[in-house]
Amino acid sequence: MKRLNAPTCCPSELFDECVRGLSNAALRARFVVQKALLESANANYATSSAAQTWCKLPRALHGHPDQVIVGNLTKGELVALYDEGMVGSRGAARKKYDEIKLLAHDECPYCGGCGELVEEEGIGTIDHFLPKARFPIFSIVPANLVPACGTCNTGMGSRFPTAPELQPLHPYFDAPHFFDEKWTTATVSEEEPVMVTFDVNPPAAWSENDRQRVVQHFKSCKLRGRYRTKVASDLSSIIAQRKTVHRDLSPEAFREVLKAVADNELLPINGWKRSLYYGLADSVWFCANNFAA
Ligand SMILES: [Zn+2]
Repeated sequence: MKRLNAPTCCPSELFDECVRGLSNAALRARFVVQKALLESANANYATSSAAQTWCKLPRALHGHPDQVIVGNLTKGELVALYDEGMVGSRGAARKKYDEIKLLAHDECPYCGGCGELVEEEGIGTIDHFLPKARFPIFSIVPANLVPACGTCNTGMGSRFPTAPELQPLHPYFDAPHFFDEKWTTATVSEEEPVMVTFDVNPPAAWSENDRQRVVQHFKSCKLRGRYRTKVASDLSSIIAQRKTVHRDLSPEAFREVLKAVADNELLPINGWKRSLYYGLADSVWFCANNFAA
């Protein structure tokens, strides 16, 4: 849930570069003939992005790599344009792939940075917001390529909902309130050992559609469990400090210490860390406890 600027690379140039990355000359020639038709995919994607109606776009069959999608090009060939022409190429298309990965600045826009972005070769993966297995026509549409951590990327898989209110948040095109307003909560167990439970509670003023979308996003990215696994080291260090350097702070003063971290605008407001610190600061029990026993 971190907003990103969409890639600025030219779709037409990217298409040419991906085609050049294909090893089969006959296939390259067939792509060149269909360029205009394939380019219309960019315009269709932009129209859906303006209305957040990606789920209404036509789907390919599950499996069936031989299904013809556009002109005489099959689903398998459109997927190869990405796999071989872009990811596997050593040319300009691969450079663009690497540049898109850098847009995330090491923080996955879907989970706000709780997955591992770092892989063997560097900086994470690229997710097809509309999965290429079901929407192969958008396999190299730049606006459909989103840098993501491996956990979010594989977690969402090739599924995409058919109902608008169940669509995940699009880091390039969804409205600012999804990314700027607080809709995650963290509840403290108020007994030792301290446990924190994460949930979703979007602002009441939001539309029902938007409220459902964040509930679904939280669920699809499995954030309840993933956030829980992130808090342990911060929580034990906060408690250790409360016993030592923060020992003499009043509950109000300790709350201010926690609030200062929660208010860090450099981190996503709905990421695990800010959510955790807001939850701790809101707990009268936690702020008053000096964990002396
Ligand atoms: Zn992620």
